[in-house]
Amino acid sequence: MTAHAKKSPSDSSRWINCPGCFQEEKRLRSLGLIKEDQASFHAQEGTAAHGLVEIIVERIIDGEFKIDASKYLGRVITVDKKGNISILNKGVKIVEKNVDIFEIDEEMVENCNVFINYFKDLVLGFTGLKRNPTKPLSDYGIDVETEIKVKLSAYGLDDIFGHLDLRVTYGGKVYIIDFKYGKHVPVYAEDNTQLIIYALPVCKDTDIEEVYIVIIQPRCFQVEPVQIWETTPEHLNDWANDVLIPVSKAIDKSTTKLVAGDKQCKWCRCAGHCSAAEEYSLIEVQNEFPDELLSDDEILDVVENFSIDRLSAFMKKIPFINNIIKNVKQKATEVALGGEKLEGFKLVEGKTNRVWIDEEEIEAFLKKSRVKLKDFQVVKIKSPAQLEKIKKLKGKLDDYITKPTGGPTLVPVSDRRKELVLQIEAVEAEIDEFLEDDDDDLLGF
Ligand code: SF4
Repeated sequence: MTAHAKKSPSDSSRWINCPGCFQEEKRLRSLGLIKEDQASFHAQEGTAAHGLVEIIVERIIDGEFKIDASKYLGRVITVDKKGNISILNKGVKIVEKNVDIFEIDEEMVENCNVFINYFKDLVLGFTGLKRNPTKPLSDYGIDVETEIKVKLSAYGLDDIFGHLDLRVTYGGKVYIIDFKYGKHVPVYAEDNTQLIIYALPVCKDTDIEEVYIVIIQPRCFQVEPVQIWETTPEHLNDWANDVLIPVSKAIDKSTTKLVAGDKQCKWCRCAGHCSAAEEYSLIEVQNEFPDELLSDDEILDVVENFSIDRLSAFMKKIPFINNIIKNVKQKATEVALGGEKLEGFKLVEGKTNRVWIDEEEIEAFLKKSRVKLKDFQVVKIKSPAQLEKIKKLKGKLDDYITKPTGGPTLVPVSDRRKELVLQIEAVEAEIDEFLEDDDDDLLGF
């Protein structure tokens, strides 16, 4: 899961929609405008969770069906910069340097078990057994592979390869299963080019009749934790021939164009530096706000007059425009820190709050000055999530916990939170109900 191919499947929605992105990225890197990718803490956390799931799935494959992630609760996973993981017992001294360390806590167990339980249910469905299988899964004719290096050589596309988390094949069906540990970026199963690429090798010249693309993303509230898209080998082969192969060939030509758009530019490393994306975003914004010097009130007026459709279209572009803004700000700050002047801007010291130089010293001073403890200390009870980690309190705190209602937030329809019933609708519903009851009364029921 750490190696990145030149045409990485995980990046495919970008390069399929903008075949010129590789050349642009190369150009920007040579100018020093894009830095080398570093594995972020969140990416390392995802690698840790993937590693844990892989170990458990391997044990299930070998016939240890009862196991789940709770078996590893309290242990520790280390992840090095190359993505290699080790699982250690709690308390073991970690001597390795340059590793990220993650405790396998309740939250990780719960999220990994969404994946494990889906896999177990799938297997149980195949075997038809009421009890847990006790033999290796191959004895039931179920073919399961983890961490598969997927290559598209059969399609003449040697430079497209990546790693698939899990593939399950049984009776003419194949399940292409990917674990996404991210919280904030929802990933959708339908027409997911990354997983379609992973599915392709088993779609060519095989007995497979049904293909199931499965994305398990338990931490992201914007989508269902398990999404399944059913398709066929014919459909995926057609896509490979009509889209993937021509695009892949086009990428290798030096004349490939940049094609900016919401999907591809949203997470592209070039956004903020790439002229095509800049132009695209400016056109988008300028279509609505033609005069660069509009005042706040004038901008408000323009927005006030947006139609419902325009509001919706603009909302969809916000992540992309935000990405451009973030990159532009970052670049401008770098330029200014390098000593160059940006017309209309200056570097200043960021805002901060005053802090104690040494908390122990000030505490000693306050005590010496006979200031009462309650007058200078704030004692705060830990959060429900923190206290629930204490074993002896498990299940005993529910009566003390409440969850305040959050303010209305506009999110994409795919978000798994329940849609709010607006007050006005509730009132109208109550009125309708009242009138119906009233009619009934009038009719003598
Ligand atoms: S920012 Fe958009 S247009 Fe520019 S290279 Fe990336 S995907 Fe292509």
